[in-house]
Amino acid sequence: MPVDKSQIKEFEKIVVDGIELTADWNRMFDQRTLFDYDSTGCMDKITDLEGGESMGWCYQCGQCLPVCPVDAVGGQYGPMRIAKKLQQGIDLFGDPDMWKCTSCMNCLRVCPKEVNMIKIMPAARAVAVLESNVPKELQDVFEKTFEYGNPLGESPRKRADWVAETGSTAPTMKELARPVDALWFVGSYPSYHKRGKDASRALAKVLNLLGIDFGILGTEEKDDCDSMRLAGETGLFEEFAEYNIKTFKKYKFNKILLTDPHALNAFRKEYPKYGGNFEVVHYSTFLAPLMSQLNFTKELNYKVTFHDPCYLGRHNGEFEAPRNCLKAIPGIDLIEMGRCREQSFCCGGGGGGMWLDGFMSDHINERLSENRVREAVETGADVLAVCCPYEVSRFEDAVKSTGNEGKLLVKDIAELMEEALG
Ligand code: SF4
Ligand code: SF4
Repeated sequence: MPVDKSQIKEFEKIVVDGIELTADWNRMFDQRTLFDYDSTGCMDKITDLEGGESMGWCYQCGQCLPVCPVDAVGGQYGPMRIAKKLQQGIDLFGDPDMWKCTSCMNCLRVCPKEVNMIKIMPAARAVAVLESNVPKELQDVFEKTFEYGNPLGESPRKRADWVAETGSTAPTMKELARPVDALWFVGSYPSYHKRGKDASRALAKVLNLLGIDFGILGTEEKDDCDSMRLAGETGLFEEFAEYNIKTFKKYKFNKILLTDPHALNAFRKEYPKYGGNFEVVHYSTFLAPLMSQLNFTKELNYKVTFHDPCYLGRHNGEFEAPRNCLKAIPGIDLIEMGRCREQSFCCGGGGGGMWLDGFMSDHINERLSENRVREAVETGADVLAVCCPYEVSRFEDAVKSTGNEGKLLVKDIAELMEEALG
């Protein structure tokens, strides 16, 4: 019950709910009014969005801060900090915090109130995208993807050029013109990026050696756009989802085989909403039970540490298959980093982060990929093994920028298989 201020006089006693109080203490019972900022509007702007509701559930317990990779590199981040700022009347729209989240899901893993940044941030960013309130480097990627079908801005006609360039055998579904066991959705970075092509060449070799009946879409393939969706470009995502689903439905196959965990996430969790129900499998999950059929001829003699991709591990629950693939390669000594499996650290590429390095450099002390590379080096590993196409380029850059060139190699698991096959 608020106390009437007129009752308060020094050294006088007043009675509240039958309890006598000295005037010295009265002001503790005075009703508090937050008068210097609007404490509701900014939070409401987020919680009113479909997907943004859980932002209001935060009770500031702090569990999310130690696990947020952006906070770990000095980004002053995590849902707790955002909820606090919103409660203080700081608008997320126009604030750099809108773009720092990599959607790694580590906070949701520990949050007792299920504050879900994987839904909150895309919902808020979708509004920012509609208002053209987007960092320029990200906007450029949206435009390139819209125009060319890939975020690298490469010609769609060249999407399958990696096959001839790398001397690989990977027939298109159109050429095969028959049902196959696996439709391999190669993805944009594995089709165009130099290091991505190395992994594609390696995977094609492994699939052929195993006698897998597979086909690719070639120039018919377009980006999965899951990271654009998480960065707020829902329109682009929907358009590409409808296109890809229509293309898949032209052909007959048992499963879609994926190089990219982000595509796996989109096809498994989002495409069913648009009528695309397919069996989808990451290449590590597909290959792990087949490893004994590969005739390895070379011992690699590598100490290897493995980086769990957020979208394979935390988002889709696959922790064992990549490790089983690595353990089956002769000469590999697998050592774990402290932050592994469910607690894996993010490379910084998710949720649009792949294209926000310039923007982020103003807000963090070091890149997430640099922090992760330091951790990998500390294990004494010679090789940092990855199985997400974002990671090879991010970690190779980080190896250079942290001065670890010559100490640590970054290789896709398929490349390690290829090397041991001789
Ligand atoms: S863990 Fe959840 S409830 Fe706790 S501070 Fe973070 S977001 Fe809020
Ligand atoms: S999803 Fe990851 S980056 Fe985003 S706030 Fe949570 S822990 Fe931080």
